[in-house]
Amino acid sequence: ALVSGIAPRKKTFGVIVRQGKKTVVIGNGAPVVVQSMTNTATDDVDSTVRQVFELAKAGSELVRLTVNTPEAAAAVPSIREKLDAAGCDVPLVGDFHYNGHLLLTQFPECAKALSKYRINPGNVGQGAKKDAHFADMIAVACQYDKPVRIGVNWGSMDQALLERIRDENAKRDDPWPIQGVMYEALITSAIESADRAVELGLPADHIVLSCKVSQVQDLIAVYRELSNRCSYALHLGLTEAGVGSKGIVASVAALSVLLQEGIGDTIRISLTPEPGEARTREVVVAQELLQTTGLRNFVPLVTSCPGCGRTSSSLFQELATSTQNYLRNQMPEWKERYPGVETMSVAVMGCIVNGPGESRHANIGISLPGNGESPAVPVFEDGQKKKTLRGDNIDKQFQKIILEYVQSHYG
Ligand code: SF4
Repeated sequence: ALVSGIAPRKKTFGVIVRQGKKTVVIGNGAPVVVQSMTNTATDDVDSTVRQVFELAKAGSELVRLTVNTPEAAAAVPSIREKLDAAGCDVPLVGDFHYNGHLLLTQFPECAKALSKYRINPGNVGQGAKKDAHFADMIAVACQYDKPVRIGVNWGSMDQALLERIRDENAKRDDPWPIQGVMYEALITSAIESADRAVELGLPADHIVLSCKVSQVQDLIAVYRELSNRCSYALHLGLTEAGVGSKGIVASVAALSVLLQEGIGDTIRISLTPEPGEARTREVVVAQELLQTTGLRNFVPLVTSCPGCGRTSSSLFQELATSTQNYLRNQMPEWKERYPGVETMSVAVMGCIVNGPGESRHANIGISLPGNGESPAVPVFEDGQKKKTLRGDNIDKQFQKIILEYVQSHYG
C-alpha cells in the first residue's frame, strides 16, 4: 500500500536536563528538542541575557553559551540570576574547549548554574593530560548531577586517535578510503569518550553525543553509523552550515533524512546570521523543519501558492506574510489559552485555479481573486465556504475570522 510515514524513533537513553522546576528530556522517544547558541561575549552579562531571552522566546528549549575565559565563567551565575528574575527558565548549556577542566573546577558557582555541559574530546589536551582533564570535567558533572554532551567536530579532531585509526586502517585487507577513516575517527572518538565517562561514574542517561561535520552526505553517513553502534541520545547539527538560504537548505537536507529514519533527539540549525539578521532565525528554521516533517507542532503554518501571472496584485503575497506573522506573534499566548491550536492549518491562495480546493483542505482557507476574477474573497472553514470578504482591509477581516475560529475550536 502507498503510505506516507516517518520511521519509528530510534530508542535512546532519555537524558533529563533540569533548570529549577523545569525539565527538558532529550531522547527515549521524547519530542525532538530545539536548541540554539548565543553569539555574544558571555562576560557581557546584559547582552547575553538579552539574547538568551530572545532565543528562548522564539522557542529555543536549551540555550548554549560559550564559557571560554575566567571572566565568562564568573559571569554565568549572574546571567542565570537575571534570567530567573525575568521569569526565563530556559536551561543553559556551557560550551567548553581547551580549559573546561580549569573553569569547571575553579568556578563551582558556574558549574552549578549551568544545566548541562558540552565537552569536545578533541581539544581537552593530549596523552595523559587529556585523560586527566576529561576525568576532571566528568567528576564535576557527577558531583552536580549534570548531563554532558560529548561533542566531536571534524574541525577539532583528536589527532592521536585519528593517527591510531589511520594505522589500524592501513593493516586492513580492504582499507577504507580517507573519508571512511575520518568517519571512523569521529564515531570512535564520540563512543570511546562516552564509554569512558560511564566508567568514571556518569550514568549513560546523562550523556548526549554529537559528531558534527559540514557536508550533507558526510553528516548522514556518520550519524547512521553512530546510531547503529550506540544507544546514547543524539544531538544533530550540520556544523558551519553557512549563510542564508545555503545554510538553511544544507542543514534541512541533512537533518530531514536522519529524522525521517528515526535518528536524532535534539537539533540545532547552525546559521551564520546575515548582517542585521536575527539570531532567532535558526530557531524558527528548526521548528519549521520539525513541523513540516510531522515530528512536532509549534505554530499554525500557512500553506500558500507561489503566485503567478494570474495573481492580481501584491495583496496576495502581503496577506500570506501578514497571516504567518500574525499566527507566530499570537504564540505563546495562544498556546497557553488554546491548547492544540498549533496543529491548526491555514491556507492563503492566489486565485481560483487551486485556491478553493487547497483552502478546503485547511482548517481555514482564503482564496484571493486572480486577474479578471470577481473581487469577492471566499473564506472556507473545515471544507465549507463560510464567508465572502470584500473591501480594503482583507488582512484584518481574515485575522478576525481566524481568532473566532481559534476561540470556538480550542477554547
Ligand atoms: Fe497561480 Fe492561482 Fe496556482 Fe496561485 S493558485 S500559483 S495564483 S494558478
